[in-house]
Amino acid sequence: MPLPGWVRRRRISVSFAVTTLSLVASVLAKAGERPLLPTDSERTNLIVAGRNWLPDSTTTKPRTPAAVDGNCPRPSDPDPLLGARTRMPGSWQGLVPVSKDLPIVVMAGHADSQAMDGAGTPGYAVDVLKQAPMDARMRDELFWNFKVQDAVVRLGQERGLNISRYVPPSLTIRNHADPATNWSQAKQRSARGEYVVEIHFDAYSPYGFGSGLIPAVNRRLNTVDESLAESFGRFPRLFRGGLGGPRRGIGILEIGMLQGPLERGLRDPQQRDQTVECLALRVVDALVRGVGRS
Ligand SMILES: [Zn+2]
Repeated sequence: MPLPGWVRRRRISVSFAVTTLSLVASVLAKAGERPLLPTDSERTNLIVAGRNWLPDSTTTKPRTPAAVDGNCPRPSDPDPLLGARTRMPGSWQGLVPVSKDLPIVVMAGHADSQAMDGAGTPGYAVDVLKQAPMDARMRDELFWNFKVQDAVVRLGQERGLNISRYVPPSLTIRNHADPATNWSQAKQRSARGEYVVEIHFDAYSPYGFGSGLIPAVNRRLNTVDESLAESFGRFPRLFRGGLGGPRRGIGILEIGMLQGPLERGLRDPQQRDQTVECLALRVVDALVRGVGRS
């Protein structure tokens, strides 16, 4: 005699729960065999793989006192932290005022474009010096984009900004129109009035241009665009004829070319946290000024 539907459903869900539990147990057992301290790239794997369920506290690091105390390099041109500003400057101005509570969304450039065109720069260390990538699953640019993204959101929240991150569920999403891509999310969020900024590092010289903001092209430019451009430099509004991101409301923030002292500061484990913190402070200071909170 066939069992009633609800009994069958119950059996299925119980056996699913048991399978899940034994999977969890075997993962935990495996975890026990691992060395206690994950390397940086392992930590990033964990963060990326578990981004949707790990609590935020696992991704935050202790604050770097030197950075917080104002020991980061002062902005100048050329800049000891960022390197050269863009060698192709623009002349736009961002004049539209914004609310102090403007919702700001921070994305990591190329977060959904690994192992395909537009994966981002491997950086000078990997491409020219043939050093190992920071994480084999992604270009070094994305590795650093994630680090800066996390630090910007953490420091921005501490400073009272209405700021959050968006991270796509997969490192490779081939269909640009998939609703989970940075582009699709930006299009929706920008239409709702959110400010979308995507963290990037530029290619090394002579391919890269230097630091600066490539502003959105789908809306009038505002005081946050202006503030980021004053801090980082200003690309032409229609750089390369208007890129896919800016057409969908993304402001592309090129932190600097991935080379020289900037890349060495990031790769040196002794300087890494400090360098990321100083970069994030530059971004957050500019955002705070841009919304008129300073
Ligand atoms: Zn990039």
